[in-house]
Amino acid sequence: MVGGGPAGRAAAAACSDTGLRVTLVDPAPRRVWPHTYGTWRDELPASVPSTALASVQQRMLVHGTDPHEWRRPYAVLDNTALWKHFWRADVVEVTGRAMAAEHGPTGSTVVLKDGRRIAAAVVVDATGPAKALSGGRPAHTSAQQTAVGWVVNAAAAEPFCGPDTGVFMDWRPAPQTRGGWPTFLYAVHLGPDRVLLEETSLARRPALPLALLRRRLAGRLAAAGLDEAERIDEERVRFPVDDQLPRPGRVIPFGAAAGFVHPATGFSVATSLRRAPWLAAAISAGLPSGPAVAARASWSILWPPNAVAAHVLRHRALRALLSLPPDLVPVFFEAFFRLDEPHRREFLAAEASPAGTAAAMSALFRGSPWKIRRRLVLGGLSVGHPPARHGLGGG
Ligand SMILES: Cc1cc2nc3c(=O)[nH]c(=O)nc-3n(C[C@H](O)[C@H](O)[C@H](O)COP(=O)(O)OP(=O)(O)OC[C@H]3O[C@@H](n4cnc5c(N)ncnc54)[C@H](O)[C@@H]3O)c2cc1C
Repeated sequence: MVGGGPAGRAAAAACSDTGLRVTLVDPAPRRVWPHTYGTWRDELPASVPSTALASVQQRMLVHGTDPHEWRRPYAVLDNTALWKHFWRADVVEVTGRAMAAEHGPTGSTVVLKDGRRIAAAVVVDATGPAKALSGGRPAHTSAQQTAVGWVVNAAAAEPFCGPDTGVFMDWRPAPQTRGGWPTFLYAVHLGPDRVLLEETSLARRPALPLALLRRRLAGRLAAAGLDEAERIDEERVRFPVDDQLPRPGRVIPFGAAAGFVHPATGFSVATSLRRAPWLAAAISAGLPSGPAVAARASWSILWPPNAVAAHVLRHRALRALLSLPPDLVPVFFEAFFRLDEPHRREFLAAEASPAGTAAAMSALFRGSPWKIRRRLVLGGLSVGHPPARHGLGGG
């Protein structure tokens, strides 16, 4: 297992639980993940205990051009508790940075930066956006999600979200935002007395600079009476959202390295936690027939044709979004927020069917004003049939 983020740790635990011997390589294998991870509560696998959640907000607010309230519980993970939940005494931890993998008929060797070599039957690349053993970063500029968040006392955050309530996306512009690419406010409780208030650029190529997001956030909070003195901590977010699927091969990509990031939300953690036991089962079942069979079995279970097709459709939606003029982005999201709940769920789901995704996108198209429909067509949003099986990638 290369990479000890949420995906790598969840996969290492699942593999260990099926009886596989696991070595986990990471530059800092004992470091608990520093980022704030949120997800719909019902998207997390049942195996994640409630003690691994820092908070659950029962209501999430959204605002495109009008306010809406979604009564769908949204969880923020307690990284330390989840990390411990996935820790296994029999997983050998190696501090190091993997540079390459060499393959033979009976197994692979991972070569570390300092020259050490680790033999393994199969190699899983869970190195996140680095994709260290799965082709690395693409040459082109990625569309990236960027955000700057301030952690403040819950009492100070009341103007944005009361107890039990979070903000999924509020597209009302921060004060003194003159034009430019729109950003939204995201707000979640981190525990009983802390709230994260984050100015987020969902996706932009090239990425919207953090300095701009920080200015907008400060302006938004100042208008509600919060100044910099309220800031307990700052979170900075930057990651690509349009990575193509890696090609099947002997290294098995997993997590953000494997294209799990949802292009329209940036989420991947719930997907990784759900799929970790599938990966472990595929490796265990395939290994008796050899490492190449185990790698193929893993690919097939992680990326069945339906999942590939849904992935392609979502990337089309991202392309269409990126092609919108800035002033239409909140209008576009208003149309999304007004969709029936099943369509919204399907589009946001960790596991989506192409038929459900296409149906949600068709409904979004039909519910959008004409000025948006024209742009969506020009931007390449297909509302017809799901794409063919081999249409990998799309961003
Ligand atoms: C600040 C931030 C906030 C986010 N918030 C959310 C959220 O709320 N919900 C959500 O679902 N997603 C969120 N994401 C997006 C995404 O889900 C995360 O990036 C998530 O961490 C991906 O998990 P991962 O385990 O696949 O990769 P990572 O978490 O990126 O883990 C990769 C690991 O591999 C290690 N590594 C890298 N290169 C090598 C190498 N060569 N050799 C060995 N190890 C290596 C890294 O040090 C790291 O430990 C967020 C991302 C960021 C950056």
